[in-house]
Amino acid sequence: MPAGRFAPSPSGDLHLGNLRTALLAWLFARSTERRFVMRVEDLDRVKPGSEQRQLDDLAAIGLEWDGPITRQSERREIYDARIRTLTAAGMTYECFCTRREIQQAASAPHAPDGAYPGTCRNLSTTERAKKDRPPAIRLRSQKTHFTIVDQLHGLFRGQVDDFVVRRSDGVPAYNLAVVVDDGAQGVDQIVRGDDLLTSAPRQGYLAQLLGLTPATYIHVPLALNVEGKRLAKRDGAVTLRERPDAWSLITASLGMPNAKNAEELLEQWKPTLVPREPWVFDPSTA
Ligand SMILES: [Zn+2]
Repeated sequence: MPAGRFAPSPSGDLHLGNLRTALLAWLFARSTERRFVMRVEDLDRVKPGSEQRQLDDLAAIGLEWDGPITRQSERREIYDARIRTLTAAGMTYECFCTRREIQQAASAPHAPDGAYPGTCRNLSTTERAKKDRPPAIRLRSQKTHFTIVDQLHGLFRGQVDDFVVRRSDGVPAYNLAVVVDDGAQGVDQIVRGDDLLTSAPRQGYLAQLLGLTPATYIHVPLALNVEGKRLAKRDGAVTLRERPDAWSLITASLGMPNAKNAEELLEQWKPTLVPREPWVFDPSTA
């Protein structure tokens, strides 16, 4: 059975914008008879205790999910196996560039939109042997662009470069891990913030290389602060624990102010209610 998902990173409490995106993902999944799976993206930036607080907050707004929670930190071997598969097919190469070298190369006039320029793509065995730092592993991409299907943005064509699949510290890259997980969990509907729209073509391309079914994306507008920047915890009282009125704020922003709980939200939900504009939230006046 196909699934939708929510995939938080346990780096701190979820704010109202995160909770709203989670609700939208749940509404899209449940209203289309999908399973809804929860995945903790904890390869990086983990704050102790944060995972449980996030899951508690999601449960408190009435989200329920199917099956056990998946944790990326427990799936390192699976990611490594997929990287080995790509490598065996000649689809990867080692990159020894420092962060600074990549920034310089990406800002060069001939580099398109910050794409990795392929500095290490054709290093010889001798050249590689001379390097004295651990390499990242990059995808040897056969495309410069790839098109994904997004329910709000239509056909979205975006850049694909030789992106990193394993970082030089050995940690699987975000793009690799999410694609492998979505495939393994049967996720064919990806609802998330539209700040991730530009990374979707890379992920869609990688999914194709791994023989996975293409997912439908729904990149929803984010919650912004009054300055038009992505809402963040430093903006003030923006978490569920800080806002006893969180539910009414979120449901009002979704055009369903009378829904008292998640069940009523689902009854009232129709895809035309999906927000097309960012939700500007001012915690000092709301
Ligand atoms: Zn390199």
